[in-house]
Amino acid sequence: MLNLVLFGPPGAGKGTQSAKLIDKYHLVHLSTGDIFRANIKGGTELGVLAKSYIDKGQLVPDEVTIGMLADEVNKSADAKGFIFDGFPRTSAQAQALDNLLSEKGTAISMMLALEVEEEELKKRLLIRGKDSGRPDDQDPTIIQNRINVYNAETMPVKTFYEGQGKYHGINGIGEIEDIFNSLCEHIDRP
Ligand code: ADP
Repeated sequence: MLNLVLFGPPGAGKGTQSAKLIDKYHLVHLSTGDIFRANIKGGTELGVLAKSYIDKGQLVPDEVTIGMLADEVNKSADAKGFIFDGFPRTSAQAQALDNLLSEKGTAISMMLALEVEEEELKKRLLIRGKDSGRPDDQDPTIIQNRINVYNAETMPVKTFYEGQGKYHGINGIGEIEDIFNSLCEHIDRP
């Protein structure tokens, strides 16, 4: 199986590149942000809970997120592989994902990390907020909070995969197509 973790701060371009990667490699795309937003739209209990965190720029608690992700992985028993987008975002999530995949006799193949500096992220998120209507992309205070949470809670996930020799950093600034080609070079490298 080809199991990719697509990593990077809010606004790094994970969603854009995921769409291109699933097209090329026929992987199942699991975006925890998208799943939460679908639940919010559907008014489910999970959605109501998630919204109370997302609107403040905080992470949804690990036990909720891990349980939801595990359910989604289990729904796709015959997948060729997965692309995890926006997950894992904490060390506890990374460990839980390792355990889940190892129960299934598989593992993460690599982490591909889109590297973009903070000022560029803030610009991109505010532009996205205008187009998408996402409330968490419209308020500079909430955006700053998400970046702070990323630096404090999510950055350690990089160390987790570095320790396994699976971390690959990719410059996330430039043309979408060039960034995509860099990602593919890492994936296709024997
Ligand atoms: P972005 O990468 O732009 O922040 P996402 O769509 O991935 O956007 O996530 C939106 C929000 O959903 C996050 O700010 C967070 O509140 C919540 N969320 C998404 N993934 C996770 C996760 N793995 N753990 C906890 N919360 C998450």
